[in-house]
Amino acid sequence: MATAFEPTAPSTPGTALVDRFGRHINYVRLSVTDRCDFRCVYCMSEDMTFLPRAQILTLEELLQVARAFRELGVAKIRLTGGEPLVRRNILWLLERIGELQGLRELVITTNGSQLERMATAIRAAGVRRVNISLDSLRPDRFRRITRTGDLDQVLRGIDAALAAGFEGIKLNSVVLKNRNHDEVHDLVAFAVGRGIDISFIEEMPLGVIGDHDRAEAYYSSDAIRADLEERYELIPTTESSGGPARYYRVQGASTRVGFISPHSHNFCGTCNRVRVTAEGRLLLCLGQEHSVDLRRVLRAHPGEPEALKAAIVDAMQIKPKGHDFDLRGQPVLMRHMNMTGG
Ligand code: SAM
Ligand code: SF4
Repeated sequence: MATAFEPTAPSTPGTALVDRFGRHINYVRLSVTDRCDFRCVYCMSEDMTFLPRAQILTLEELLQVARAFRELGVAKIRLTGGEPLVRRNILWLLERIGELQGLRELVITTNGSQLERMATAIRAAGVRRVNISLDSLRPDRFRRITRTGDLDQVLRGIDAALAAGFEGIKLNSVVLKNRNHDEVHDLVAFAVGRGIDISFIEEMPLGVIGDHDRAEAYYSSDAIRADLEERYELIPTTESSGGPARYYRVQGASTRVGFISPHSHNFCGTCNRVRVTAEGRLLLCLGQEHSVDLRRVLRAHPGEPEALKAAIVDAMQIKPKGHDFDLRGQPVLMRHMNMTGG
């Protein structure tokens, strides 16, 4: 299996989107819904209120946004959420985006719950790589972390993704102390056994979650790496997706292990990405509130792609230099990850 880590040079020129710090934006993450069939403890509170349908971008509007970014030079689009595969008719959108001229990468991030029935169609729509979240291989823990998830269903989804022939599959594991930090060996063994990649993610303080104290649950990437090095030889690689991850190859295997470390390693200097929330807010930084309301532009100027593109180009001027994540105290950002489009 080819790797799921994309060899995108950070901030590659060739895009019309350049911010005040000279960073070239060539990657956009579109949240297609804030809804989800899981309620992961680090992502949502137990009793989430979701947005009314009229506030969510329609599939047509999402396509217009994707097209505008592509015409401005964006080469990679990720659909995420919430759970992107619970959005009705999501295949229609994937197929349309998959047809956009010059798009180098169409990828999705999913919790895997719908992959058993959808993996083949998603692959056929032009999705080349998929990231699948998997925090535990123990059914009871998996349920405890996701609150509603069924591990077997997700494992069957991973098998379906393997059978569907994606060019890359990567697991994403958020690691929390005393919840799943002792499973990092098993998760890597699972990835190695299937020839797929895995990233370990430090929890980010987005939204009030009520489940645990984030500072207490913090388990650093360096601690995970030290744990893994008891069993595996990890060889640093120079690959970068312009994002927060650092990658290592597992000696003797095709698997790569990534560490996404917003706290312990700042990555903002090479940031090449922006996000669009399910309600059409263009977020210039995961960890700041700077944003532009693209839904307003779309609805005020229907059928005028130039207005949308102008709003996106102008927005680059307010992309902040970096995030200010701090695990102590109240989260600075009240929006949850499912809104943000992680
Ligand atoms: N539902 C899909 C999924 O779970 O893969 C896509 C959306 S989810 C918000 C995207 C990624 O963000 C997942 O890998 C999830 O584990 C991660 N995530 C959610 N909340 C987070 C948080 N507070 N800190 C770090 N990662 C988080
Ligand atoms: Fe849903 Fe993904 Fe958030 Fe979990 S991390 S609640 S699967 S959106």
